[in-house]
Amino acid sequence: MRTVWPVVTRSSAGSAGPPSVAVWSAATLPTLGALDAAVTDCRACPRLVAWREQVAAEKRAAYVEQTYWGRPVPGFGPADAALLIVGLAPAAHGANRTGRMFTGDRSGDVLYAALHAEGLANQPTSVREHDGLALHGTRITAPVHCAPPANKPTPTERDACRHWLERELELLLPTLRAVVVLGGFGWQALLPVLTDAGWRVPRPRPVFGHGAHVTLAPAREDRGPLHVFGSYHVSQQNTFTGRLTPAMLREVLSAAAAAAGLRPNQR
Ligand code: SF4
Repeated sequence: MRTVWPVVTRSSAGSAGPPSVAVWSAATLPTLGALDAAVTDCRACPRLVAWREQVAAEKRAAYVEQTYWGRPVPGFGPADAALLIVGLAPAAHGANRTGRMFTGDRSGDVLYAALHAEGLANQPTSVREHDGLALHGTRITAPVHCAPPANKPTPTERDACRHWLERELELLLPTLRAVVVLGGFGWQALLPVLTDAGWRVPRPRPVFGHGAHVTLAPAREDRGPLHVFGSYHVSQQNTFTGRLTPAMLREVLSAAAAAAGLRPNQR
């Protein structure tokens, strides 16, 4: 039987939205499994709820026979990951269709091929849930768990989703050593969360760029250093134009895996 976790009520959409909505209190969730299950029920962002469900109902012609997920997409990967990959948000006809991060679209094709090449995934493709894909020491998440129109969440939506990322980081703390952030949106979303989570983020904040690497010193005794790497996002806009090549992505993943203490190619 499914566990029901506590729910809190808080404003989710600022003055433009309804006064309050029921949302999960992610801070009370005791495990990543519980977090992943709870986030799929979240309806805190009215615009994103409407969009993810509209896309799921209307569908793309190529997927008209499929049942879209149409809900928040949880993080994917083991609960003892040493490396966390932080993207932007689910794609409308990718993860919003399949229910798994970066699964079922061209962005995921590029990302999972690179992860496999670096020994961080057991197969190079990610087509659907239950396709046998497993990640080694690596977890993938996003600062926004619902597909946004035009791939652009608002700052209000990013902030509404922040408690999920905060709790995910807390639950990964025993093993987490490195983070790869895909794109400037994720970089800007993650750094304040890391400050609150117990690391010293320099001021002014480090600038995002492909190949950026900062090592954050712990601000608390129960934290260790955290390596944060930047990579251009694996969007089609970047990969089709050659702004991000597979070799560029692999270079960042390789450095991050080494910093995380993962040496998959030497197993
Ligand atoms: Fe909830 Fe995040 Fe989706 Fe907003 S984006 S509805 S906070 S899961």
